[in-house]
Amino acid sequence: MREKGRGMETLTVDRKAKMKLPHQPVPIRPAAERIRDFEEVVLSYTAEQAIAEANRCILCPEAKCREACPLHNDIPGAMWLISQGDFIGAANKYRETSIFPEICGRVCPQERLCEGACVLGKRGEPVALGALERFVADYQRQTQGLPLPPVAPATGNLVAVVGSGPAGLAVAEELTKRGHEVVVYEAWPEPGGLLLYGIPSFKLPKRLVHEKIAYLKRLGVRFMTNTRIGQGLTVDDLFSAGFDAVFLGTGANVDAKLKAPGVDLKGIYQASDFLVRANVDHSLLPEAMRRPVEVGGRVAVVGGGDTAMDCLRTAIRLGAKEVTCVYRRTEAEMPGCHKERVRAIEEGVHFEYLVAPVRFIGDAAGHVRQMECQRMQLGEPDKSGRPRPVPIEGSNFLMDVDTVILALGYWPDPLVSETTPGLEVHDWGLITADAETGATSRPGVFAGGDNVTGPDLVSTAVAAGLRAARAVDQYLKTLP
Ligand SMILES: Cc1cc2nc3c(=O)[nH]c(=O)nc-3n(C[C@H](O)[C@H](O)[C@H](O)COP(=O)(O)OP(=O)(O)OC[C@H]3O[C@@H](n4cnc5c(N)ncnc54)[C@H](O)[C@@H]3O)c2cc1C
Repeated sequence: MREKGRGMETLTVDRKAKMKLPHQPVPIRPAAERIRDFEEVVLSYTAEQAIAEANRCILCPEAKCREACPLHNDIPGAMWLISQGDFIGAANKYRETSIFPEICGRVCPQERLCEGACVLGKRGEPVALGALERFVADYQRQTQGLPLPPVAPATGNLVAVVGSGPAGLAVAEELTKRGHEVVVYEAWPEPGGLLLYGIPSFKLPKRLVHEKIAYLKRLGVRFMTNTRIGQGLTVDDLFSAGFDAVFLGTGANVDAKLKAPGVDLKGIYQASDFLVRANVDHSLLPEAMRRPVEVGGRVAVVGGGDTAMDCLRTAIRLGAKEVTCVYRRTEAEMPGCHKERVRAIEEGVHFEYLVAPVRFIGDAAGHVRQMECQRMQLGEPDKSGRPRPVPIEGSNFLMDVDTVILALGYWPDPLVSETTPGLEVHDWGLITADAETGATSRPGVFAGGDNVTGPDLVSTAVAAGLRAARAVDQYLKTLP
């Protein structure tokens, strides 16, 4: 069959033959080896494997993968280029729509995005789109570095970005390319948001985040770290200081708390505190946080999302002997990424479904030693559409524990909304913003990422940032 389009020259696609090509398994380190360090778990394809896997893409005209990608990357276009051995061309294809192919290729839950939409997945293995995106982006980084794009002539406009996670970085890059001057304000000592202070290095090596920040600095973005907007300097102060627009990319970084007797005992951690202190170089932490986490032999992690999986796998790497995930629904309702759960099981994590903690019991020194739990059954669906966990009376039991990590979800920090008059928020403090433009109730203030949607994904935060950047650019053109 002859096909045209997507920037590809006219080409002949023999779909039947392609569908018979064998899938190239993505290389992964054996569990027994990888639990001994914090190095990356998934390895890279070789050039030959990448070409062979990309060749499996049947370049279907519907390109459902592209539709399913929050950034709408031209995936078939990239697959064709990889199959021709043009790795740099493919990397540039991703960079037309994404600022982070080396990161999204690693951390996106492809099974429910691009790979989940791949037609080959109906009868067998989908094309390994994530591994291929990562391969070409890494190939380009390693052979050319991150190429600097052309920058438009200076407009004289000044934009403040609050928060340096994927949403804020996307806005900063896009507006700088359009000739605006951008200053990013970040509360942590280093920029990167959850890419640096959340996602563990066995999923995302920190050097990729540092490289991206160095690239943005070369591009002209300025970073003001250790600066928490709302504490001292407010959004109104930024406007008074001469900024023409403000983008809020403050994320959702406040841990949801559990109300249960004994929750303040020693040895009980909130997920963020645990992950940051266990995974981030202590020179990048504020003074007060530079203490190692102490992990005992028996660790329980309460929660079932990606953060819980990261805590479980971090605890294993820190030497815990028995690591148990305690989740109040069943595996079918778990919100996280399936492949991360499989990797946790391979690494020795044990799962207790339909169980919730009710209280924590400490020893004489005030350290947690037992967790009293109650068994649950599934009831009617709640607001999220998932069956509600209903406690079973008389089912309480004790679990011996030395360390408990609570990974129950996140809320946005209310500081910015509380110190910005006229900024509308709704459920749980999420900022009310237009889905397409990120415009908020305050003229000149835009928002996007987890602080608007609630905890979501790197790719959706980048997509929101890029949409908002285009809207900020338009807004700046309307200014006198
Ligand atoms: C443990 C963990 C693992 C995850 N794993 C994955 C994964 O594998 N794949 C995936 O796609 N997603 C994953 N996510 C989700 C993903 O990291 C987030 O959806 C994404 O980072 C949101 O981007 P953001 O820019 O909106 O916010 P963030 O990345 O949270 O960045 C917000 C930044 O704003 C700063 N900030 C907040 N308030 C202020 C203020 N007042 N002044 C100055 N700065 C401020 C914060 O310090 C932070 O640096 C994970 C999340 C966690 C917690």
